[in-house]
Formats: sequence, structure tokens, C-alpha cells
Amino acid sequence: MPPSHITIIGAGIIGISTAAFLQRAGHKVTVIDRVAPGEGCSFGNAGGVAFAEVVPTIRPRVLLKIPGWLLDPLGPLTIRWSYLPKALPWFLAAGRNALPHRVRRITAGRAALGLRAVSDFDTLLHAAGATDLLVKKDSLRLYDTEAQYRAEEPERIVKREHGYDMTRLSPGEIAEIEPDLARDFACGAFHGGWYYVRNPRTVVTTIAEHLVRNGGEILQDEVVQVTQDGTRATALTLKAGGERKLDRLVICAGAYSNFFARQFGDKVLLEAERGYHLVIPDPGITLGRSLTYVASPMAMTPMDVGLRLAGTDEFAGLDAAPNWKRADVLWPFAKRCLPKLRAIDENASRWMGRRPGTPDGLPVIGPSRKVSNVWYGFGHSHMGLTWGPTTGRLLSEMLSGAKSNTDLSTFRVDRF
Ligand SMILES: Cc1cc2nc3c(=O)[nH]c(=O)nc-3n(C[C@H](O)[C@H](O)[C@H](O)COP(=O)(O)OP(=O)(O)OC[C@H]3O[C@@H](n4cnc5c(N)ncnc54)[C@H](O)[C@@H]3O)c2cc1C
Repeated sequence: MPPSHITIIGAGIIGISTAAFLQRAGHKVTVIDRVAPGEGCSFGNAGGVAFAEVVPTIRPRVLLKIPGWLLDPLGPLTIRWSYLPKALPWFLAAGRNALPHRVRRITAGRAALGLRAVSDFDTLLHAAGATDLLVKKDSLRLYDTEAQYRAEEPERIVKREHGYDMTRLSPGEIAEIEPDLARDFACGAFHGGWYYVRNPRTVVTTIAEHLVRNGGEILQDEVVQVTQDGTRATALTLKAGGERKLDRLVICAGAYSNFFARQFGDKVLLEAERGYHLVIPDPGITLGRSLTYVASPMAMTPMDVGLRLAGTDEFAGLDAAPNWKRADVLWPFAKRCLPKLRAIDENASRWMGRRPGTPDGLPVIGPSRKVSNVWYGFGHSHMGLTWGPTTGRLLSEMLSGAKSNTDLSTFRVDRF
């Protein structure tokens, strides 16, 4: 397939990675975003390149805990009740995805996206001269009790089947590796494949700058409409005024992607899974790797901006105001792990991001079923940083007519 001009809506980790791989394949690229690169959900995530996390977020053991969580507005997973009718179809679909045969299929999809996550990261960061942004040290998981550790054996078995071994560590070994951790954990374990980036926003801006140095175009404006002529998308209307003619178009608009998919007649279940972060710039502790703690679905990551605590899930739609208490509740869990951690003061910063969440936690990667020159790359839920570069490579292979070794049927847009 000859090189063409490809327009990408969205300058998050997915859009910028896609543009970078397309440019490497010889295409001319234009990325359009209403904000600067890396200012959307890709700005403030936990920074985990968690390629070994093949086990789906929603699975039978988690499903049982959800009703209890939903009742607590500051719990790990919450929904604003006024939003429930809107999100119900998504929740019902997510529940169906906990059936064993679906869990197996989703696990295989996750494993496929994780397989080359690190090498695809390396490709983009090496080209941009910034390999140091990815720190290849495995994350450490902490357990208060032996029973908690034993309860996760089913997940460890699945990970082992995919080649990711979670090495168990004794309290003495934990203290040896990370001296600032509390001394009373029952045990710990390496995740088996969970690296971290020094700053996820810088990852996006660094790749974006390299893209521009090589002739790529990045335009800051909002796309308000796509004009179609039959089954072709022909032009974009921009908020600041003016039109952009289209050759081929890729939608990487994160949690906002349904605005476009709906217009093109592709039915997708997509919800904003809102997560929070709290950054303590001068935390008073030193960490050599990121941590997870069994008592809370969050990660603690040592970044260039300080210690970032990030995670949890809130369903309230795209536009509801943030509930900053959800950021602050992360701190006590971190304090339990890191007793010398400084208190939240006026230097701490809080952030809320909208994960583009599908009910199976897998992205949509592939062509529109209805519009012949439109492709999708969105819906990466909790794993967009990890799977971003690989998504970019896969889309580039598709748009270049190259044969892919990955089974892409799992990511089709017509699976909902
Ligand atoms: C608290 C938290 C922690 C997380 N931790 C991790 C982690 O450790 N590891 C991991 O892999 N993932 C993590 N994630 C998930 C990850 O951040 C997301 O999956 C990822 O950032 C999604 O990237 P994206 O490019 O699809 O979306 P975005 O970064 O949101 O980019 C989409 C862009 O599209 C633009 N856009 C939308 N509509 C329009 C329009 N009409 N016109 C112009 N521009 C438009 C938006 O402005 C936005 O910049 C976390 C998320 C959160 C919230």
C-alpha cells in the first residue's frame, strides 16, 4: 500500500504512538487535539508499563466484591447513583465478561498486547533519544497476611501460563530491596513484568517532539464534525474555524471516541472510568521501584515530580466535577506502606483522568465497519500507557497493508 496522509484525532499516548509508527512506515501524519500532547488521560496515570498484567480487571472473584465497593463513595470503585441508568448497559456487559470462556478470551487479548509492549516502547523512546524515561525495574506487591497472598494464587497461575512469574519475597528481602518500607508485611512479590516511566506526560511530549522534528504536524484545535460522502469521511470541521480535507483518519480520542464512532454508525460501549492521583513532591522517602498494595487498587510510583499515588475507579460520566476526596483517600494506604511518608501539604497536587473504558477492558483497534477510510485506536481502559506503543505499531501495520502476527479479531469494533 503506498504511503498516504493520515490524520489522527487525539494526542494522548495512543494517538502519538500511532502517529510515530505511521511516520516510521513512511506516511505523512497530522495529529489534532484540543489540548497539547499528553494533557488528557495520558497526563497523570500511575506510569506503570504493566505488561505481565494479563488477568482481566473484571473476573468472578472481583465481581463478588463490587456491590460492597459501590456503596462507599470513597471506595475503590464507585458510581454516582444519578449516573447508574446511563451506565447500566456497560455494567451488564462487564458482568457477562466474567464468564469463564470470556475471561479466557480477554486474557489472551491482554497477553497479545503485552507481548511486545516493552520492545515497542524501546523503539519509540530510542528513536526520540529518551530510553531513560522507561525504568526497567519490576514493581513490588505487598501483603499484610499470608491469607491475602494465598488468595491470589489463581491469578499467579494464569500469569505463569503466559511466562510471567511472580517471585515471592520474605519480609527480610523486602527490607533489603526497599529500606523505607514498613517492616511488618507478611510477604511481598515481584509482579513479574511491571516497569514504570519517570513521567507519562513526558513520554508523550518527547515522542511528539520527535514526530514534529521529522516533519509530522500537530495541530491544537477541537474537531467538532466529520463530513462524510457516502461511506468515506472527507473533511474535518475545526472549532477555531476552517476545514481539513481527509485522506485517511484514525480516531484515538480516548474517552471521547464514541462521539465519532457513533457518528460513523459503529456501536461501542465506552464509559469514562475516572481515576485520581495525588503527588507528594518531596515525599521524605526513597523508592527504587513502583509498589502496589493488596488493600487498595492503586500504585505508588517514584516519578520525577515526586511520589505519585494513582488509581481507583469512579463512574460519573465525562463532565461531572471531580471529587478530590477520592485523591486524598489514597494517602493513608501509602502511609501504611511507607511510614516516613510526609503528610499532604500545600505542595501536593491532585488530578482526575478519564480512562476510556470498555466492558471487557480491551481496546478497539481496527477499521470502522461502516466508513472505509476510518480506523480506531481507543478504549484502553486501565492499560493505555502499557499498550499504547504496541497499538501504534499494530495500526501502522494495518494502514500500511502489512501482515500482522497478532490475532486482531479480539479488538474488532463490532464485538459490543
Ligand atoms: C489514575 C489512573 C492511573 C492509570 N495508571 C495506568 C498505568 O499505570 N498504566 C497504564 O498502562 N495505564 C494507566 N492508566 C490508563 C491510561 O492512562 C489510559 O488508558 C491512557 O492514557 C489512554 O490514552 P489515550 O491516548 O487513549 O487517551 P487520552 O490521553 O485521553 O488522549 C485522548 C485525546 O483526545 C483528545 N480529544 C478527544 N476528543 C477530541 C476532539 N473532538 N477534538 C480534538 N481532540 C479531542 C483529548 O483532548 C485527549 O487529549 C491510568 C489511568 C488513570 C486515570
